[in-house]
Parts: sequence; C-alpha cells; structure tokens
Amino acid sequence: MIERRRRRTTRPGLAGARRFVGVAGVLLAACGPAPGEGMAALTGATVIDVVSGRSQLDAVVLVRDGHVVAVGSADEVVVPRGADVTDLGGRWIVPGLIDTHAHLQPWGLALALRYGVTSVRDLHDGVALADTLRAVAMRQPSPRLFLAVAMLDAPPSTYPDAFLLDSPDSAEVAVGRLVEHRAAWVKVYTRITPDILAAVIGAARMHHLPVAAHLGLTDAITATHLGVTSIEHLSGIPEAAGDSVALFAAHAKGFFAGWTAFEKSWSSLDPAALAMVARELAAQRVFLVPTLVLHETFSRLDDSTVLRSPGLAAVPDSARRNWNVAAMIKRAGWRSADYPAFRAARPVQDRFVRDFVASGGRVAAGTDASNQLLVPGATVHTEMELLEHAGLTPLDALRSATYWAADMMRTDSLGRLRPGAAADLIVLRADPLVDIRNTRRIERVMLGGKWVQR
Ligand SMILES: [Zn+2]
Repeated sequence: MIERRRRRTTRPGLAGARRFVGVAGVLLAACGPAPGEGMAALTGATVIDVVSGRSQLDAVVLVRDGHVVAVGSADEVVVPRGADVTDLGGRWIVPGLIDTHAHLQPWGLALALRYGVTSVRDLHDGVALADTLRAVAMRQPSPRLFLAVAMLDAPPSTYPDAFLLDSPDSAEVAVGRLVEHRAAWVKVYTRITPDILAAVIGAARMHHLPVAAHLGLTDAITATHLGVTSIEHLSGIPEAAGDSVALFAAHAKGFFAGWTAFEKSWSSLDPAALAMVARELAAQRVFLVPTLVLHETFSRLDDSTVLRSPGLAAVPDSARRNWNVAAMIKRAGWRSADYPAFRAARPVQDRFVRDFVASGGRVAAGTDASNQLLVPGATVHTEMELLEHAGLTPLDALRSATYWAADMMRTDSLGRLRPGAAADLIVLRADPLVDIRNTRRIERVMLGGKWVQR
C-alpha cells in the first residue's frame, strides 16, 4: 500500500538545522555569492520515491550541476537564497524513464526524450549507426545511451551487421571487438548455443560487461545458470517449460520460423511447468525484459487500428517507408490464422510475468522501438500499461522503467531521486500510482538538471 498522506511534522533537530542554514546564508551573503546560486529548486510537487514506494507531498527537490542535491519535505529541505525556484504545486515528480530494449535511429532520440525517456539501452544497431547515435547525442539533448553496438550471433545471422562467432574459441575476439567500439552491453542473439554462450559470458566478465540475451537455441534456465544478466522478449522460456526439441528445430530454420513457433507455443504450455520456470528465474536474480508491447503489436497486425495508432504520426515518413510492415509479414510468412494464435499467447505471457514478479523477480521496461510500429518513447508508456494489465501494481510498473531498469544497468545514479542521483526527472499532471496511464501526462522533462521539455 502506498502512503499517500504522510503527516507533516516538524522535528526539533531539523528546525535547528534550518536555522543554521539561515544563519550560514546570511554570513555567505556578506562575503560571496548566494548559497543557492546555480541551484534549481522544484517546490510543491508530490515526489514519488520509486524505491520505497512512498509519496512525499509538498516536496522540495534541489538540483545542482546535473545532480539531485536534496529531496524531502518542505519542512526538511530549505530552499537556499538565490536558487531558481519552480513552483510545481499540484504536480507529481517521478524519475526519468528508461527504455531498456531499443534499436533507435537518430530521429528517435528527441522523440523518446519528449516522452520522458532519459536513458536508453540500445541492443544492436551496427557499428556505423551506433557511432551516428553517439554523434547526434553530442549535438542535441538526447537520452543517455547504453549501447550494445552490434549483437553477437552465429552464422548464418539474421542481421548482416551482427558480429559472428561459430565456436566458443572466437568469443574473446568477438567481445574484444565490442570493447573496441565502446559497447556497454553484450547482446547475444538466437543462434547462440550454450557452449558459445558460456564462452561469451566468460569473455564479457573479463571486461565487466553484462550480457543481454534474445535466446533461440539456448533455453532460459540454461542461459540464466550460465550467467546472463537479462533475458529479452521472454525468449527461451517456452523452451525451458515445454518441448525444446521442436522449438530449437524451428529456431535453427531461421529467425521468423523460430519466432512464430515460439509465440504459438505459449498457449499449450503446462501452467505448472511455466510457474516453476518463473520461480527459478526469479530465484537466480536474472532480469526479464518482456517487451509485452512487441508481443501485443505483432499479435494485432490483422487489426487495421494498430496501423493507424495516433502515436505513429510522430514517426518520419522515411522511417515508416523503411518499416514496410507488409514486406515484414511476407518475410515472416504470417497468415490471418497466425494472429489469433499469437493472441492466445498473451494471457499466458502475462501470467508468467505476474508469477515471476510475485516470486521476487524484477522486470525492466523495454520496447524494441523503433522496429516496425514501435514508436520511441510512446511505447515505454504502453509497456508499463501492459505490465499493469498483466497484474503488476502501478508502482511496480513504474519501477520497471525506473529503478529496476537502473539496477539491471548496474547504476544507482539513475532511475531514482535521491542526493547524488542524476537529475533526470519528469513532471506529471496526474498521479501515476492511481493510474499508470498518467505517466503520459507529461508537463516537463529534466535531463541532467536542465529542462529539455516544458
Ligand atoms: Zn530487439
């Protein structure tokens, strides 16, 4: 339960501290710049502490040099003289959002930021595009980028710009290439077998790099025991809970053959076997990036309203042409009977995610944007809504895009608002803990202490 109405109390010690700050302020005024010079003070809003789950009414957030300096009640935190005060009465403040599974193009950076996404883990774009994204992010306000640069896959890979390795012996060289290109993550793809995965994880550890896995020829339990940090798209889970032989054969045929068989397999999996996999993955502390928005979108490609969704208006025409949804469907070989089968997977996937979180597992919001029909930024909000629909509380849905995501990315300076954290935050017009859809009601976005949207 969320503590919504914390009573304001004045503790004597704090009142003393306040007096002291006041006296110090007067002294400083006599001999130098005001103590609040260069500081931003956000006052009056309700700050949601996503870690504790408590809401601080009438809060003060002090920001300086891109970081949060203080956050607390108006009784506890004094606004120093000279600070630039922004009154945010009647608003809510939450940490900036993190999209933990994206494949962005340069046009998506500003768009993601407008939707309050202040950090992005990008899991494959190829070397050239990764360099372009970095260059654009230097020139204009952009989400913080955590790039996997190029995925690792075994031949024949789905993507021509993947780095290929056909045996465990090539793992060190492949990971070394990623390090040369300043990758922050190692991403492995569907053709990676357990022996190669073990070698990749070993090489990644030498460089302190976490490993994200879109599994195909390795099941999720095996990958987790080998030490992957995150499992993408719920991949490898039907393979762990059901008939892995048939699914591995489909993955070996090709990407879409594997995806189609995998997606269709969910509805016939044994619920008890799935629940056991959920508990085991949660116990092993692996992060799940379910990308429910991807499963949901692909399951509704026969629904013309998906193709006309209002968020798509923000996508440049050239990008929409590149998507060529009809050509993708043709490549995949999907027919009208496939979509109801995909839709039958959805409640089973939802139950799996719910079981995983109920067992103490942590999920991170990821979107696969800007692949076909997945709009950068907007889809993070859809993902939180889908996670709530799957049975998570609004707070846990918000955690998936904030501090759980940051924990997965091994950073405690993002995804939460506390002294020392990056001042990445969004100001909302309504309470997201009442309705997670309120995360879309963005009034302002702050990135590294600067308003980038208001
Ligand atoms: Zn992806």
